[in-house]
Amino acid sequence: MNKQLNQRMQIAIDMPRQVDEEVAGDIEKESVFVSPAIDRIIVAEDGKTATVVLQDRRDVEAVMDKAARFLDVMAKQVSGYEIKVFSESVRKDEGPYQKDVNQGLVERGWVHDYGSGQVAYNGPVLKLAQLINEKAAELYAREFKAADGHFPAMIDADTLHKCGYFDSHPNAVTFVGNMIEDFDAIEEFRVANSCSEGAHMPHRDHVHIDGMCLNPAACFPAYPTLKGKRYETGECFTWMGRVFRYESRNISGLDRLYEFNVRELVFVGSEDYVSDVRNRSVPLVSELAAFFDMDCKLQTATDPFFATVSAAKKFWQAAQEVKNEIKIPVLDAEGQVKTIACGSINLHGNFFGERFDIRDTDEKPAMTGCVGLGIERWVLAAFTHHGFEPDRWPEEVRNRIFD
Ligand SMILES: [Zn+2]
Repeated sequence: MNKQLNQRMQIAIDMPRQVDEEVAGDIEKESVFVSPAIDRIIVAEDGKTATVVLQDRRDVEAVMDKAARFLDVMAKQVSGYEIKVFSESVRKDEGPYQKDVNQGLVERGWVHDYGSGQVAYNGPVLKLAQLINEKAAELYAREFKAADGHFPAMIDADTLHKCGYFDSHPNAVTFVGNMIEDFDAIEEFRVANSCSEGAHMPHRDHVHIDGMCLNPAACFPAYPTLKGKRYETGECFTWMGRVFRYESRNISGLDRLYEFNVRELVFVGSEDYVSDVRNRSVPLVSELAAFFDMDCKLQTATDPFFATVSAAKKFWQAAQEVKNEIKIPVLDAEGQVKTIACGSINLHGNFFGERFDIRDTDEKPAMTGCVGLGIERWVLAAFTHHGFEPDRWPEEVRNRIFD
């Protein structure tokens, strides 16, 4: 179409200080949120300079100033935390990891990729997703007597605010907009769409955003339902949650979706109860990985917070060892092994207890923790481990997912 779109301008910029590979990766990923005029920022291998890839040539000076401020904040991140591995499982299948799983699933008609971070699926993919979900729920029921529940996919802004989400991940929020309750505005919108090709969005002034959002973290909707509870020991809850994280241009296959499913476990109660459930959930995750015969490591991690809060919060998370990630290997587009986080085990201290008035019998804020398993990432990892030939899959899984 427009030739200029293809002629991207690249400007080199000095890094405010040298960064390592990990921070360089975060910079590239978060750079899609710097400016609509910036396509991406790529840090050079030596970590001393970066290339800003611009979408167009307007206001270059102002855009570069914004890029410099972003890099300034990101370069302050401390990385190279000592990563502790808590548990490791190794698969029995001796076959190679399967390449191009996303593409293979689409070609077989088992996945439809809408191209905007959403997927539809059926056949073996659906059956596998259901089995992962079911198996995890079964382990949580067996070990913690956690009953299955259900929570909505939308969440109000006040709850998200209380959960600290706007402060930690403001770039990932999705607001729900509605037509204003106005006869003329609604009619104008209807007429615009009555005989057109492609949807016409309503005028900006005709849409109101009142604070309803799409839920970005599975456990959030649980806390308001626990308000006023007083725990002597504690309680576990589990459910399948639908979550939404706006990833801008970072979306990619089943590994980085905008909309995905999470099997969640929340535990709430006394300090002893919560740390006991957390410790006992480590071997459960390994048991789940072994059931699907996958390589899996549980290790300390930090969250990908938004740039300006990143440095402080990451340091806190790493120091307290409050987040453990479930790392499972897959292959990247070049066929190289990379690990993806297929879930995490988290301790929240008394943060949610305090914010949502959940307490112990001494009226002290209760402790909470959670385990989240990203179902679609487990699906991607399982197909990477065993490929498309049913023979390589563990018998119990094979019998359930292939006809
Ligand atoms: Zn959670």
